[in-house]
Formats: sequence, C-alpha cells, structure tokens
Amino acid sequence: MESLAADLRDRALGRVIDRADIAEFSVLKTYDPPLAALHGAELKDVARHGKFLDLITSPAAPAAPGTALHLITHLARAGWLRWREDLPDQPPRPGKGPLAFRLRFADGAGFDLTEAGTRKRLAVYLVTDPAAVPGIASLGPDPLSPEFTAEALGGLLGGRRTQIKGVLRDQRLIAGIGNAYSDEVLHAARMSPFRLASSLSPDEVKSLHGVIITTLRGAIERSSGLAASELKKEKKAGLSVHGRTGEKCPVCGDTIHEVSFANSALQYCPTCQTGGKPLADRRLSRLLK
Ligand SMILES: [Zn+2]
Repeated sequence: MESLAADLRDRALGRVIDRADIAEFSVLKTYDPPLAALHGAELKDVARHGKFLDLITSPAAPAAPGTALHLITHLARAGWLRWREDLPDQPPRPGKGPLAFRLRFADGAGFDLTEAGTRKRLAVYLVTDPAAVPGIASLGPDPLSPEFTAEALGGLLGGRRTQIKGVLRDQRLIAGIGNAYSDEVLHAARMSPFRLASSLSPDEVKSLHGVIITTLRGAIERSSGLAASELKKEKKAGLSVHGRTGEKCPVCGDTIHEVSFANSALQYCPTCQTGGKPLADRRLSRLLK
C-alpha cells in the first residue's frame, strides 16, 4: 500500500480531476458529497491509513474555504489499482467485468480500480474527514509512534477484563502487532497470555511497553533491506515461540506449548510465562465435559 501511494504521488500530484465514476454499484459507500463534487478538484497528496489509500484533493467549489475532499479506497484482497495514460471520455457502463471504479483526470490519464472474483469487498468513500470512514477511525495507535507511551498503554489496559493476548492483537486497540508478535511480546515479557489486562501493575505495564517496542523494532531491523521473497523466511526465523509448538524455548529450553485462543491458537513457554503450568485448553475441556 505504501508503494502504491508513492507511485500515485509521482504520477498524479497536481493533476485536475475530470470525473469519477462507479462501474459496480456496491463499491461506493458514501452519498454526500456526491462523486460529481470531484469535478475540477486538484490532487494535492496521497496518504495511507493502514490499508486505506487516501487521495486528498482541493475541490473547485469547496463547501468551506480550505475544505479538502478525500477520495478513500480499500482495495480488499482481490482489488487492484491500474494506472492508464489514456482513458475514454465516456463513463464506464456499470455491470460486467472486474472494473469497479474509474477516476479520469482532465488530461485523459487516470486509473481503474478492479476487483477479481465475485466477492465484492472493494470500497470507495468520498468524505471531508477520513475519520468518517469505518475502519480508519477505529484503528488503534501505532506502537512505534510517539503517542504510544507507557501511560497510553496503561490507559488501554486499565479496567479491561479481557485476556492480554486478545488486547495486544486487537487492531482497534493497538494497530499492527497481530497474532505472531503478540506471542513474541508476551514471551519476552515473561507474561501469561491469559492474564487479565486490568490486573497488570504499573511496573508490569511499563516493562510490557518496553518489550513491545524492542520486539517490533527488532523485527523491522531484521527485515530491512530484504526482498519481498525473503521476508517470510526472515520473519519465521526471528520468532522465538510463535509457530514453534513442540520445539525448545530459546531462553530456558522448556518445550513450547500451544493452546487454542479465539478462532486460532497461541504458543507460549510454560517455564518462562506461566510458572511451569500448562494453560488449560478451554475448547478441549468443554468437549470432554
Ligand atoms: Zn522458556
């Protein structure tokens, strides 16, 4: 997504929009302002919010001085953006084919958004405030941003009577840790994945905060400069417990265990994290009752 945004910036900044058209009705998720408001608007910048691409334009007839219009898209799994130097004058006919949306600049260049397959997930929004798009407003803070302080983490955990593993991988609370690195963070912090978030002491919050940052920085350092094809292998090699059920803990040599969690599984080291006691697999024990 970041490279797609950079590519669009190179090609299209300063261009004036002629028209925006939908070719698949389900794509457009907003109605006010209408797509016609983009006519004559100049593309000022292209930003990214998580997996959303944000085309920031200054409209020809702004609702208020300085009001930007944001054309935001989420390509979903099967969506793609294709730049074209020469688009037809006429709007596309809705219906058949993978074409979902077309943006044409006044000089005839522009891009198509296409979506393969039948699952219509690609979405387009036209808004004056990106936070109005569901999924953008709900992304939690980036753990490597300056706002993510130990106090901010404490605020997220305080009063939350859910397991710490679930909190760490919830994108709405903290963006970008995910399933694998939440296992790694909890192992490095020597903390049970089933600890209640609200039960952490201020010292534990502080040390967890430090571990989150060093774990993510380490992962980024290891992968910097690697080609996309090497990234997966490097990620796997850098993990201590995640995906390593039955292997030896690199810290203490105990056997790494697995327990079901939500709709998947998590891995942990009993000696490092749970005082040597294996965690009870709730799904399994429910089946045995
Ligand atoms: Zn261990």
